[in-house]
Amino acid sequence: MSVLVYVNSNNGKIAKNAMEAVTYGKKIGNVTVVTNGGADAGALAELGAYGADKVLVDRAFEGTDPQQLTKLVVAAAENVGAETVIFSNDLVGKSVASRVSARMKAGLVAGATGVPAEDGTVKVNVFSGKAFGFVKVNTAKRVISLLPNSFQPENNGGTAAVEEFTSNSGEAGIKVLETKKPEGAIPLPEAELVVSAGRGLKGPENWGMVEELATELGAATACSRPVADIGWRPHHEHVGQTGVAIRPNLYIAAGISGAIQHLAGVNGSKVIVVINTDPEAPFFKAADYGVVGDAFEVLPRLTEAVKKF
Ligand code: FAD
Repeated sequence: MSVLVYVNSNNGKIAKNAMEAVTYGKKIGNVTVVTNGGADAGALAELGAYGADKVLVDRAFEGTDPQQLTKLVVAAAENVGAETVIFSNDLVGKSVASRVSARMKAGLVAGATGVPAEDGTVKVNVFSGKAFGFVKVNTAKRVISLLPNSFQPENNGGTAAVEEFTSNSGEAGIKVLETKKPEGAIPLPEAELVVSAGRGLKGPENWGMVEELATELGAATACSRPVADIGWRPHHEHVGQTGVAIRPNLYIAAGISGAIQHLAGVNGSKVIVVINTDPEAPFFKAADYGVVGDAFEVLPRLTEAVKKF
């Protein structure tokens, strides 16, 4: 089975979800990776350790314009005779996978969390992670978007051949005027540990204790939607149904009620710790560990405890 995996390498680096997608692809067949723009050949070759035989890179254009990327992936799929095309189900993957599926007349499996079974059935997340389903497409070719953090990358060493590729993807339909990189060393979607806070923290001036705990743990910071909406925190930190969906190993939530729309983005976390003054807060139902207490007392004590390790 020929498998094509699209990897976003526009910031010059290879993200964790790319390694996940390549490892996933290797479980299905022989993997060719396709990408555009930025990353150096050495970084791309390292995808061989995760199972890629070959990397096709079109350096004629940069960026994540969905129309250009659709042409790139379709051209690469034709080039290698791909029967399965895989994306990470991130912002770029979501917008390009459906376009590629339409162009290739291939069924789309969105939000996969499992490898296809012998009969082609794939486990997927549905209803914002509240349930799962099984999907099987009846087309000869298929497109799968893999839910980030649902599959462990496997590094078995080795390198992939990197080849220049021309896809004639044309001009970008969207003109990028300015790019603002989020502050903070750890990108939220890739973070293994996340410290998050909500309206219970009363104001932006109190986020120092959240940042301090995050720094001690080596964690990323996140927040509930109202906190971003009222400008206490930047929008890229907002997690939930309408924000970033994350699946870290540890999610610490302080002063967040646990509304269903918030849970939709975090309930895939492996361990959830909730700190809330209200013992009836809905978040406790989803928590692995709950602290009924004041975040203003609990967070600094937690930071002190972590410092001792
Ligand atoms: P609140 O609901 O005000 O809760 C604050 C919590 O802090 C309370 O539980 C309180 O007991 C506790 N608290 C107060 N003081 C302290 C203290 N000193 N120490 C500890 N705890 C304390 N929300 C999201 O987060 N993400 C989304 O993606 C999202 N999408 C939405 C989409 C739609 C269509 C809609 C309608 C809503 C969406 N929301 C989303 C909003 C969501 O419904 C909730 O309103 C929101 O999550 C509540 O944020 P919060 O928990 O920070 O605030």
